[in-house]
Amino acid sequence: MSEKMCVIIIDMLNDFVTGDLKCERAKQIISNLRRLVDAARKHGVPVIYSNDAHYPNDPEVVHKWGKHAIKGTKGAEVIPELAPLEKDFVLEKRTYSAFFDTGLDPLLRSLYSGEGVKTVVLCGLHTHICVRHTAADAFFRGYKIIIAKDGVESFTQEDHEQGLKYLENVYNARIMTVDEIIREISKKK
Ligand code: ZN
Repeated sequence: MSEKMCVIIIDMLNDFVTGDLKCERAKQIISNLRRLVDAARKHGVPVIYSNDAHYPNDPEVVHKWGKHAIKGTKGAEVIPELAPLEKDFVLEKRTYSAFFDTGLDPLLRSLYSGEGVKTVVLCGLHTHICVRHTAADAFFRGYKIIIAKDGVESFTQEDHEQGLKYLENVYNARIMTVDEIIREISKKK
């Protein structure tokens, strides 16, 4: 695979894994994501974190989810197991999509010496919410999409499975295991 890839880790934050909006099922993807980011870093594939960093008056806080991942709090930090390294990119967002007012698109276009990322590997939380909205915006902007099916999770199995099906049907996402993605990353050059 010669496609220029990046790995985007969405909302693997304390509040979503152990805190205010915790999702028990999130724990089962941590070790997979750890292996994926390690492989990406080793093979020069950019790792980008897209993290909720809310103001208390953000619409999704007020109208839907209540208080979570408030900017500057412990709850809004990436879980320690997946803590970003210095060469990773960390972007804050204030709603579901990693592209919404975050500067992600210009960042992707600047990578690989300005040739730009062609394929985004989406991981993290939640399959049917932030991953889905990020995939929509990636699709609209012409990126190919890979979803790590054992690297994304939702509150329920049903949400997760419906999310995967939607991503495949609507955005032509390739649904792959973390091991398959690591194999692609390893033979990239
Ligand atoms: Zn949020």
